[in-house]
Amino acid sequence: MSHSLPLIPVAKPVLGEEEAEAVRRVILSGWVTQGPEVAAFESEFAAYVGAAHACAVSNCTTALHLALKAVGICPGDEVITVSHSFIATANAVRYCDAMPVFVDIEADGYNIDPSLIETAITPRTKAILCVHQLGMPCDLRGIVEIGKRHSIPIIEDAACATGSEILWEGRWEKIGKPHADIACFSFHPRKVVTTGDGGMLTTANPEYDRKFRLWRQHGMSVTDTVRHGSKQVIFEDYDELGYNYRMTDLQAAVGREQLRRLPELIKRRRQLAARYSERLSTIAGLVPPVEPSWARSNWQSFCVRLPSTADQRAVMQALLDQGISTRRGVMNIHLEKAYSGQGFHRAATSLMQSVSAQQRTIILPLFAQMTKVDMAWVVDALHGYFAEAANAEAV
Ligand SMILES: *Cc1c(COP(=O)(O)O)cnc(C)c1O
Repeated sequence: MSHSLPLIPVAKPVLGEEEAEAVRRVILSGWVTQGPEVAAFESEFAAYVGAAHACAVSNCTTALHLALKAVGICPGDEVITVSHSFIATANAVRYCDAMPVFVDIEADGYNIDPSLIETAITPRTKAILCVHQLGMPCDLRGIVEIGKRHSIPIIEDAACATGSEILWEGRWEKIGKPHADIACFSFHPRKVVTTGDGGMLTTANPEYDRKFRLWRQHGMSVTDTVRHGSKQVIFEDYDELGYNYRMTDLQAAVGREQLRRLPELIKRRRQLAARYSERLSTIAGLVPPVEPSWARSNWQSFCVRLPSTADQRAVMQALLDQGISTRRGVMNIHLEKAYSGQGFHRAATSLMQSVSAQQRTIILPLFAQMTKVDMAWVVDALHGYFAEAANAEAV
């Protein structure tokens, strides 16, 4: 048995000399956490997505926790979201001792089905937490309308969606403006840009932004930059419970370089996704992901639905045997043991589409460095597998 890595990974961050040099600069500057680099990263990120405020934190899970706290989620409240997501989406709700209420996803995509949201609303519903799954914008227009009609705040889990766009009142705008109340981003290496770990909150609401900044550093009334720059002695206060959710300046310096690369990275990913869709369209029963006319994905992941007769594990193994790494489609949170106890979640609708998506989809390799040869290798392996399967059936 070989212990070497697969030839083609499912994802790969783009990190180079620029990022290494940025970290070196910060180390030698002597200021290594929540300082000038974090402030610069925040303003550059805000400008990029078109947000009034951007606040950097340690990761997207902590961003989601602060977002839910900012809109006032308390123990016993309900938050409507999807089970078909990474577990962090629902975990953040439970950090507030609130109840994740799951609704199903659309049949032809991997995002929340807006037509199901209103059936899930109860007097306890205090927020809707929608996800831009795999980088594909969810139907925000429909969701924002529902939020307005019921006076329920909306938080966007945009962990995967840095650089994705949505057509809004006739203009293409970046996810994170935000179009709802608060958007939360991740800079984990599995996302399109990375700071190792890292997260960002964007909002148009200055009061939310003030709270994020307070809570991310233990609820301390004075920031380190203010105290450091002051000519007078300042004593800080701690009026409410806070957390240590800081981003370091080392991470922020990397993030700034990653932001510079982002337009190129997205352009490349969109080319690769288009090529995949075209070349896989001739496999009978295999369904490439659909991009609605009002959305432009950053293609954080390229998720295909397998023919209904295909065995997911067998397809993945056949690809792995040829050195191609894949992943199963997005998980279902409600099926995990951590969610199986009484009161850990409520399913407001059937979750049939969510379960079917997990069982019938696989995520194919997609990364900016992917070559034509890599792409052909994956496409040919899939064509080969399904041609063989078709032959076997014909016999
Ligand atoms: C990655 C991810 C998260 C968690 O992000 P971290 O930065 O790792 O905390 C949350 N939600 C979704 C949908 C994700 O894909």
